[in-house]
Amino acid sequence: MSDFTPGNLVTLSPLVHRVVANNAGMMTGPGTNTYLIGTQQIAVIDPGPANAEHIDAILAGAESIGGSIQWILCTHTHIDHSPGAALLKAKTNAIVCGLPAPEGISQDTDFRPDQHWHDGSELECEEFCISAIHTPGHASNHLCFLLNNEELLFTGDHLMNGSTVVISPPDGNMQHYLQSLEKLKNYNIRNLAPAHGDILPNPSEVIEGTIKHRLQREQKVIERLTQLKTCDIDTLTSSVYDDVPAFLHPIAKMSLLAHLEKLSTENKANQSQQQWSAC
Ligand SMILES: [Zn+2]
Repeated sequence: MSDFTPGNLVTLSPLVHRVVANNAGMMTGPGTNTYLIGTQQIAVIDPGPANAEHIDAILAGAESIGGSIQWILCTHTHIDHSPGAALLKAKTNAIVCGLPAPEGISQDTDFRPDQHWHDGSELECEEFCISAIHTPGHASNHLCFLLNNEELLFTGDHLMNGSTVVISPPDGNMQHYLQSLEKLKNYNIRNLAPAHGDILPNPSEVIEGTIKHRLQREQKVIERLTQLKTCDIDTLTSSVYDDVPAFLHPIAKMSLLAHLEKLSTENKANQSQQQWSAC
């Protein structure tokens, strides 16, 4: 299960296989996970970047499973998730499902879903049933996909294994992110299949732990903001993320902005002329 060699087909269950794209990195962990669901009619979740070798590996995977790719589902339109959809559709004529890209950097604005999915959209075939859960926060158009047969949730970038989810405003929204985590508690979920890293068991622990971690960080933002009285975001980043290596601070700064925007809407923080202060 822990084979993350790009292009290798890994069997996770009788219904679920994984192929990892060759795009490992600081933000992508071992690379983007592309999942193949089904053994006859196959749904592909997150075809990954527009990389011909990866698309060939997905096609080879489907062939060795013995099925044909009928659907392509995208959790969101960051460039490590959806650009492969067009290439894979060109080879399979599969139906592309997801939500178009919002404004912003790192967005696959060429993504053209055949079906615009929303909260509760379903794909049902002989072998399996997948339903969509709208989970904005990391990205406003983010969908998680629940494979009902196995109570397995494909989390995209809403939850990851081994790397921290970045909430980057304006499309990323901390308030929505926490609400989307709370929302997942309403579903029967046995395991989490993230877009980066291995399968995560104990979903309740992971979800609760993530909420707790974010709220602890938020509390630290309030404390440091109160101590510093008035400061710019760079000063605040160094203070709030003093437990995180400095080379990660540019990324942490994005999530800090998301925390500050949440606190601002709750009247707990205030911004004036690039300076932040506690209310
Ligand atoms: Zn993403």
